[in-house]
Amino acid sequence: MTGQSFAGELRIDLAAISDNVRRLDELAGSAGVMAVVKAGGYGHGLVPSALAALRGGATWLGVAQLSEALELRAAGLTCPVLSWLHAPGADFAAAVREDVDLAVSAPWGLEAVAEAARAVGRAARVHVKVDTGLGRNGVLHGPALTSLLDRTRALEAEGSVRVVGMMQHFAYADAPDHPEVRAQVVRFDAAVAEAEAAGCRLEVRHLANSAATLTNPSLAYDLVRPGLAVYGLSPVPSLGDHEHDGLTPAMTWSAPLAQVKDVPAGQGISYGHTYRTERATRVGIVPVGYADGVPRAGSGVGPLWVAGSRHTVAGRVCMDQLVVDLGPGSGAREGDPCVLFGPGTQGEPTAQDWAEAIGTISYELITRVGDRVPRRYV
Ligand code: PLP
Repeated sequence: MTGQSFAGELRIDLAAISDNVRRLDELAGSAGVMAVVKAGGYGHGLVPSALAALRGGATWLGVAQLSEALELRAAGLTCPVLSWLHAPGADFAAAVREDVDLAVSAPWGLEAVAEAARAVGRAARVHVKVDTGLGRNGVLHGPALTSLLDRTRALEAEGSVRVVGMMQHFAYADAPDHPEVRAQVVRFDAAVAEAEAAGCRLEVRHLANSAATLTNPSLAYDLVRPGLAVYGLSPVPSLGDHEHDGLTPAMTWSAPLAQVKDVPAGQGISYGHTYRTERATRVGIVPVGYADGVPRAGSGVGPLWVAGSRHTVAGRVCMDQLVVDLGPGSGAREGDPCVLFGPGTQGEPTAQDWAEAIGTISYELITRVGDRVPRRYV
C-alpha cells in the first residue's frame, strides 16, 4: 500500500512469540513443538511468526494449506513443515520437491500424493490424519482407516509414500476435561497401534492443540501442535488469557483518534442512531471499521481503551470508522491512541475481552485484522 494508512497499526511482539514457544516447549517435556502458523500466523504474519517460533525452540511448523508451506520454503525456512488440509488439484509435486510433509485425510489424497511422488521420483512423507471424533477432515477411525492403511502398504512397497506420522485433532479445544477428549485419545492410540501393525514406522505421533498442551502433559506424545497459545492467548477462557501460564499476547491493535469533538445531549451517533448521547459529551472518531476486521457485532459493546480508561464502541461500527463516547471534559486529543486490544497489562482490553463482548472466540478477532492495517514488528 502506498501513502499513509490511517487504520492504526498492528504491533506484533515477536519476542513474546519466542517466549511463548519457549514456555510451551517446557510444558511439552521431551516432546517437540510444532508451532501452528496457518492463517498468516493467526494474523501475526506467516514468516515473521514462524521465525520467532523457531527462535523460541519450535522444531516443526504446521499449516493448513500447501500454499502456506510453500511460502515458508520460499522464505528460506528449511525446518520440517507439515501441511494438513488439501483439496483435489493441490500441487503435491511441489510439496514433495520442497520436502513438505503432507497429511492425508482420504483415499483420494493418498493416491494423489503417491502419483506426485512418482512424478518427482522421491517418496512423499505422509502423516495420516485420523478423525477420532471431531467429525471434520481426517480418515474416520475404524474400517475407513483400516482400508487406507492397507493401501499404504502397497505404496510404501513401491517407494512412493512413507507414513512417518499420525495425528488427530480434538473436538473440545476449549474444554480439556470433557470426556470426549479421553475417548478421542483411546481411539488415537488404537489407530497408532493399527498403523504400526500395518508396518508403518511412525516418527511422530501428535495430537495436542494449545488447550491440551497447557493442561495435560500426558498428551504431548512426540510433538505438541499449539496455535493460539503461541500467540499468547488462552483457548480455555476460564484460565484467562492475560499472562496465563507465562504466556504473553503478542498482538496490539491501536488507531489514533482522527477527530475529537463536543456534541450536545441527545445527539444520535453513527448509522441508525442506535446510540444517543444522554448528556453533552466529547466523542472521538477512530479510523477503523469492519473493513479492517472490527466486528460489526461490536457495535455498542466492543471495549476500547483511550487515554487510560475503558470505553465502549458508541453506536454502529461502520466500514472505515467507529465512534467512542469519551465523556464530558475528556482530555483525549486528536492523535491519541485508541487501543482495541492488546496484552491487557495497562488495563486495555484483550482479544478475549472482545470475544466475550460479542459472543465469539479470540481466534476470530486476531485472524481477521485487514491488510489496510500496517503491521509493525518489534
Ligand atoms: N492442529 C490442527 C489440525 C488445527 O487445525 C489447529 C487449529 O485449528 C491446531 C492444531 C491448533 O489449535 P489451537 O490454536 O487451538 O492450539
